[in-house]
Amino acid sequence: MTNHFFTRDGSTWIPQYLTAIDAVTCIGCGRCVKVCSREVMHLYGVDESGEILGACDGEDEDFDGELSRTIMVIDQAGRCIGCGACARVCPKKCQTHVAADKIIG
Ligand code: SF4
Ligand code: SF4
Repeated sequence: MTNHFFTRDGSTWIPQYLTAIDAVTCIGCGRCVKVCSREVMHLYGVDESGEILGACDGEDEDFDGELSRTIMVIDQAGRCIGCGACARVCPKKCQTHVAADKIIG
């Protein structure tokens, strides 16, 4: 992987890739996914014990009454371009971003 990233005018730009979302702190507000143009994340439903029930693709999905809350999950990490937009709108600061020149794999 390259360590050299540039903006259109040739300035150095280091992407900050989304690598993790704290499932305990996340409130599932959906702000991050709304600003992401890359389909990196998906809202999932969890039950009372924190077990993932499945993707929340419909607003009325309650997983047969098992739904306790929703959390954001990274399901296509490789699509992230490291723009940082999701971090700026997260009210819980529960995301981890890693600079492109520091990321492994
Ligand atoms: S850093 Fe940008 S591309 Fe990556 S998940 Fe956040 S909003 Fe999407
Ligand atoms: S903006 Fe933050 S709190 Fe809201 S769903 Fe995304 S990661 Fe969770």
